Amino acid sequence: MLGNLWKDGKAMNQWNHYINGAPAKPASGAYLSEFDPRTGQESLTIARGNADDVNAAVAAAQQAWPEWRDRRPIERGRILMRIAHKIREHSAELIRIDQSETGRTAAASGADVETAALYFEFYAGLVNVGHGSVIDLGSGYHSYTRHESFGAVAIILPWNAPLNQAGRGIGPALATGNTVVAKPSEFTSVTTLEVARIAVEECGLPPGVLNVVTGLGAEVGTALVEHETIRKVSFTGSVRTGQAIGRIAADRIIPVGLELGGKSPNIIFADADLDQAVPGAMKAFLFNAGQVCSSGSRCLVQRSIHDEFVQRLRQALETVQVGSGDGAIVGPIITRAQFEKVQSYCSLLEAQGATAHVGGVLQEDAAKAGWYVRPIVVTGVNNDMQIAREEIFGPVLSVIPFDDEAEAIRIANDTEYGLVAGVWTTNLSRAHRMAARLEAGQVFINEYYAGGVETPFGGYKQSGYGREKGLEALSHYTQVKCVTVKL
Ligand code: NAD
Repeated sequence: MLGNLWKDGKAMNQWNHYINGAPAKPASGAYLSEFDPRTGQESLTIARGNADDVNAAVAAAQQAWPEWRDRRPIERGRILMRIAHKIREHSAELIRIDQSETGRTAAASGADVETAALYFEFYAGLVNVGHGSVIDLGSGYHSYTRHESFGAVAIILPWNAPLNQAGRGIGPALATGNTVVAKPSEFTSVTTLEVARIAVEECGLPPGVLNVVTGLGAEVGTALVEHETIRKVSFTGSVRTGQAIGRIAADRIIPVGLELGGKSPNIIFADADLDQAVPGAMKAFLFNAGQVCSSGSRCLVQRSIHDEFVQRLRQALETVQVGSGDGAIVGPIITRAQFEKVQSYCSLLEAQGATAHVGGVLQEDAAKAGWYVRPIVVTGVNNDMQIAREEIFGPVLSVIPFDDEAEAIRIANDTEYGLVAGVWTTNLSRAHRMAARLEAGQVFINEYYAGGVETPFGGYKQSGYGREKGLEALSHYTQVKCVTVKL
């Protein structure tokens, strides 16, 4: 395994950067600790990168670019397909590492590994899709467009679904002929390091095409965005960091894609099939312990079914297992800081005039260890309360009543975010009317989290701009050149 150093016959579980096709020790000689959320204990260390490491990685990416860019696309696709297969072959190991970094169940980590493989597979099949077009200027000219790569691009990633998001960025960036310097979250870096190793050592990706520099945002992330050779940045994370990156990108005049947070409405009409909508609303806020940018954390419920809906939700939640073993639905919060943030929101509930149901308290798991939170449904919420406006990033659901379609739209759109929205109704016309009027990059109807690697994803308003996933990501990672010849 790439990062493991051995001393006196014992594995130290110390991980280095992956630069130019080989593990690279940090220039500073320093390492950072990662913690296992299931126990709160230190589990491994990663290289603490700095500007020197960033320079080395960007130089490698820049050097590797012309050869990678000029390859026949189908050859790039063949390598991406191999990466997809090898990720699946290595899934047991990747799941083990992901579990130690995120604390999720094996099934949840496995789903993330599979999604990463799917991204490489999907973009492997699309390498020939980014064709330009021929523009008719009459008989005296031949005019056409080319979709060209940027060169060395930076991909900066968060901690909540590490491999999924790594695949989402790296897959299309490589497919379109860019080379990559990835900076995973300092809390969950190792699976991305492993994918880079697998890609180069087992799949024939040329050294330098995919590099990974680990460390802190302020030390590695900023140095990457500021680096004069980086021609494009793809960022997934918080609004605050997105703003900081956007400011640097504005000064440098480089394109940046921002995938930021959300406070997404999940709207349940009285005519919805509640046998579907109740478990759907649970999944919307419990998936990944609520640590999802698109979490359905505001549940808007039509007043005539409000009490019945809340009662059914409470009943269903009583059976939900918290933990990391088989059968658990809600795993731990990935970092201590985030665990404390969720706690602080929960301590505010009563003071804001809201009522917490089910859980209502935070627990440290049956084993009294790890950063576990029992799911909480909060009623008596109005949309002006802090818990309805701010992204909590934990298993906390605000239930907000509404009377009619117009009020549902008004409350749903009354947020600075615009990532996703859910609508539950058996009225087809209403479903499409709502979809058209909701201010969100994606709308799910009668199934929350519907979609896949094929469907474009991104934000309205402060949830960001640019689109990842699907065919749209191909335009995100390319720039258009128009060539016109006087015949
Ligand atoms: P974060 O902004 O704290 O960190 C994200 C990444 O940016 C990390 O790698 C971090 O080291 C780096 N970083 C931090 N400061 C930086 C700086 N000044 N310059 C450059 N890089 C810097 O976010 P997080 O806490 O890791 O992730 C949670 C957030 O991500 C939530 O707001 C969530 O909604 C959002 N998110 C969005 C999506 C999406 O697709 N829209 C997906 C997942 C998570």
